[in-house]
Amino acid sequence: MDENFMKKLQLLRDDCGFPFKINSGYRCKKHNDKVSKKSMGDHARGLAVDVAITDRYKREDFIGGRYKLEYFNDMAIAKTFIHIAKGRTKSGIGIY
Ligand SMILES: [Zn+2]
Repeated sequence: MDENFMKKLQLLRDDCGFPFKINSGYRCKKHNDKVSKKSMGDHARGLAVDVAITDRYKREDFIGGRYKLEYFNDMAIAKTFIHIAKGRTKSGIGIY
């Protein structure tokens, strides 16, 4: 994982005040190509994690924290997790 990414993720975790269960972090390119067509390789560069979140209020804290930090620039929301990443030039929010 990218060291600065992990520092920012810890800041986000501190801001949220709840533990992050990481469903998926770093992936080798081969595995990433198999499981994801959407992530543009952010997981394979150590610049993305999928954090397990199902609670609506925790989602609110997590997403609010993302904007406060002004670091992460990509996000995708699924029923059971949120993908958060750094690496794209244009910010966005996707859904699964
Ligand atoms: Zn992801």
